[in-house]
Amino acid sequence: MTQHTVPPAPACPDCDGFSAAKVTLGGRAHTGALRIITAHCPACHGTGKQFARRFAATSAGR
Ligand SMILES: [Zn+2]
Repeated sequence: MTQHTVPPAPACPDCDGFSAAKVTLGGRAHTGALRIITAHCPACHGTGKQFARRFAATSAGR
């Protein structure tokens, strides 16, 4: 018996789905915790998925 499932959205080709990374800035805050920022993939803006409009743009020219 076949099941109708929605295929998952394709992963971002720039980050392969790993859209965010924690980066230490060096040093520690006054509380003793490491100073950390989250860097998001600029291509997918931290979603990890490829945007649908990219598909539309590539298929529109055919
Ligand atoms: Zn990405």
